[in-house]
Formats: sequence, structure tokens, C-alpha cells
Amino acid sequence: DILISQIAAGEVVERPAAALKELLENSLDAGATEIRVNLELGGTQLIRVADNGVGIEEAQLNLALARHATSKISSLEDLECVASLGFRGEALASIASIARVRLASRAHGSELAYQIQADGASPSEVQPTALTTGTTIEVRDLFFNTPARRKFLKSAATEYAHCNDVFQRIALARPDVSFSLHHNDRAVQLWREQDMAERISAVLGADFNQAAVNVAETTAGLSVHGMSALPAYSRASRDAQYMFVNGRFVRDKLLAHALKQAYHDILHHDRHPAYCLFLTLDPALVDVNVHPAKTEVRFRDSRAVHQFIYHAINKSLAGRAGQAPAA
Ligand code: ADP
Ligand code: MG
Repeated sequence: DILISQIAAGEVVERPAAALKELLENSLDAGATEIRVNLELGGTQLIRVADNGVGIEEAQLNLALARHATSKISSLEDLECVASLGFRGEALASIASIARVRLASRAHGSELAYQIQADGASPSEVQPTALTTGTTIEVRDLFFNTPARRKFLKSAATEYAHCNDVFQRIALARPDVSFSLHHNDRAVQLWREQDMAERISAVLGADFNQAAVNVAETTAGLSVHGMSALPAYSRASRDAQYMFVNGRFVRDKLLAHALKQAYHDILHHDRHPAYCLFLTLDPALVDVNVHPAKTEVRFRDSRAVHQFIYHAINKSLAGRAGQAPAA
């Protein structure tokens, strides 16, 4: 079973950033409004995520680390319409099979907190611990027992950069949640609860917001809102391309193409725009279950989605085109 988990871990957790993503999504699924992240050596030595979510009951702590034990899905139909971010029930089991994990939690309404530990083998007994609220999980020494994989870790600086990417994406998607990030005991970020435009400005820089047009469009079953800008007008890095589908960060060529096309047709500009956009549609019309890392999506009607995004951007740019500086 440990071996199966280690194999699965290779798919789900190829580097610290992937583990961080799973932990952050668990905190959000638990309804956390405040999430604190501590990393050491780019997450290779330590990833700690502390939240103020609903917590885990003492009797459930064991299950949280067990394979395919998820509290989030009870039927196959649920799989069709996943609302929560995690649903496979294998992230924590995978992580616990390749790292030293301590999971501490105080269930909502309980006076007591408990913890469980695992270091690649079966988890320890559940023990009492001290914790004021929510759940704190620590993941140390990723791949300590799978040296072949440990070898593929890049420098702490590179792994940190990947962790920071994940942290930023999730913070962009949830401006209603407060996020902090420490790296090697140094405070790197603190974003308190704010509105979408404020969070985009905090993450991408105020100059992005100044250069950007607002995007807001809704038709039957589809809605998009957010901001987009020509990279030439903003310092936002070339890959400041954030697309969220039903709250999940995705990379999608089709959506990127729709944006580029609109910029080409309206502003006659051929660079890839920078953007942060939130697309919402009926979960039954999109398959997020394509890959465990879940940055790909498959739309049931990709033509309709392409057209919708194209028109939304087109409209925003047309409203602004007169004022835009010459490209
Ligand atoms: P999944 O998220 O797919 O259900 P995970 O392996 O990520 O599976 O987590 C297993 C279970 O542990 C979750 O279903 C949830 O019940 C519990 N859990 C994990 N992290 C948290 C957290 N931060 N707060 C509350 N419960 C959690
Ligand atoms: Mg999960």
C-alpha cells in the first residue's frame, strides 16, 4: 500500500509546489479564511500550511492520511460536478508516503486538538496536541525515502519560485481569503482579505491594473470577469497569464488563443496579453478531471467558450481602443 502511494505520489507530487497546491486546496475546501504558509529551502525541507478552517475530528485524522479516503465525494455523480477543489482522496496519502508529515487539527467546536504523524510508513497513534484553531500540516524532507526522485529536485531558489507561483495563483483566485507566506523565516507576502481588483494589484502590481481593461460579460450559462492588459503597458511578466475556470487555475491554449485573437483584431497587436480572468460555467460542461495536477480542462463545447471569451475581450477593448496609446 505504501508502494502504491509512492507511485501515485509521483503523479500528484512531482515537486514541493505540487504538495503546496494540494495543501492550500485542502485549506480552502475546509472553508479557511486565513491561511499561513511557511517554507524552508524552497519547500524541500519544510512546507507548513496553517489554516482556520473547520478542522478534522479526532476519529477522522487517521483517514485523512489514508488512500482514497475523501470526505468530499460520496457518489460517482458527484465526480461530474465537483465543487470542492480536491476530490480524489489521494493527496495526503501520497505526500505521507514520501515525506515526514505531521497533521494537527482542532475540529470546529471542539476544545481539544489532536495530531498524527507519518514518515513514509504507517501513521502514528493519534495524540493530543495544542492548537488554537483549524488545521496545521507540516511536510518535511520531501522524497527523503525516494532518493531517485529527490535527485530531480532543483535548487531551493527554483523550487521556491514554483511554490511562489502556486501561492500567487491561489491567492488570485481567492481575494476573500487572507494569505501569508514566509520563506526561511522571512515574511515574503501578506495579503489580507480584499476585493478582486485589489488582490490583482497586490499580486501583479499596481501598474498592471492601471494598464488593464476590465472584463465582465455574461451570457446564458457562461460568465467571465477580471482584467487584461497588453504586456507592453505593464511590467507584469510575460507569463502573467492567469485563467481560472470555476475557481481553478488552468492552462488552456484555446482560451489563450481567443484572447490573443481579440487583441490582434481590435488593437492590431500580436503579443500575448497579460490577464487575470475568471470564467464560470456549469461544472457539467467542463471536465477538470483530465490530469491529477488539474491544470488542464476539457470543455464540452470549446467553440462556444472560445467565441464567448473572444467577444468579451473584444467588447472591453473596443470600449477602450480610442484611449489606448499607439502600439
Ligand atoms: P481530498 O482533498 O481529495 O479529499 P486529501 O488527501 O487532500 O483528499 O485529503 C484527505 C481528507 O483530509 C480530506 O477529504 C479532508 O477530509 C481532510 N483534510 C485534509 N486537509 C484538511 C484541512 N486543511 N482542513 C480540514 N480537513 C482536511
Ligand atoms: Mg485534497
